Amino acid sequence: MEKKITDIGGTWPLANGVQIPYLGLGVWQADEGAEVVQAVKWALEAGYRHIDTAAVYKNEAGVGQAIRESGVPREEVFVTSKVWNTEQGYDSTLRAFDESMRLLELDVLDLYLIHWPVPGKFRDTWRALEKLYADGRVRAIGVSNFLQHHLEELLPVAKVKPMVNQLEFHPWLVQPELQAYCRQHDIQYQAWSPLMQGKVFEQDVVNELAAKYGKSPAQVLVRWDLQRGVVTIPKSVKQNHIISNADVFDFELSADELAYIDSLDRHQRLGPDPDVFPK
Ligand code: NAD
Repeated sequence: MEKKITDIGGTWPLANGVQIPYLGLGVWQADEGAEVVQAVKWALEAGYRHIDTAAVYKNEAGVGQAIRESGVPREEVFVTSKVWNTEQGYDSTLRAFDESMRLLELDVLDLYLIHWPVPGKFRDTWRALEKLYADGRVRAIGVSNFLQHHLEELLPVAKVKPMVNQLEFHPWLVQPELQAYCRQHDIQYQAWSPLMQGKVFEQDVVNELAAKYGKSPAQVLVRWDLQRGVVTIPKSVKQNHIISNADVFDFELSADELAYIDSLDRHQRLGPDPDVFPK
């Protein structure tokens, strides 16, 4: 089913009906304090309604502060955080969630993710997320960096299915089979490092399309994400980039152009391999 793309405030429904804004601001490597507070305020001012943080980014307090000070009503902003690898397990995840909420100073979180599939632990971690969900402390729960075999291990034992899988996604790592598997299980695919951590500017095809539409390469990739039905969270702490990365609602890539970007796939990661990293 085609997902509707309207404007910066647009949303898509998750499996439980909760609406997720399909464009958000990522804040990995945004420094706690003035830098992250300013970036989140600029984003909210520009119309973003979705902020992606994590315990391990160590900037949850700044994210919460920026939301409170922005003047945008809390319920209009979709906030994601994630439990880090060292905190995985049932009790430790519940404690980690409490600590994230203490820092964010929020009553309810919008989305809580298992950051990486730590072997031997992620099923207990998931039970903790199900408890938080059942208790109404989080509106949606999901995973990150789960490959198909991780989902195949989790889904049979899950009482609540993950609503989101947040993965590295850009023209060098398209993973169409994993996308299809997530679609089949009503798990929303979400892109991390959508701008290839800045390497987008080295892609000839993307540069050509950018020239054709009078847009930036970053805008072409954000648009590609959305037209592929992928929720995306480009990161910047610069106001001009925060604004321009979301200025993607005045052009449309053709089916051929989308396929052309897909064809740049090299199965190449910029970040860690989920089968190696989270030991
Ligand atoms: P990204 O692909 O969004 O690239 C961000 C970098 O691109 C910025 O640091 C900046 O240098 C550059 N940039 C951004 N906009 C630009 C513009 N308009 N012009 C020129 N340069 C520009 O990289 P990312 O931060 O790795 O990924 C986005 C978000 O995804 C993160 O902030 C984080 O929230 C999330 N993430 C999640 C995981 C995970 O394991 N779940 C891992 C990595 C990132």
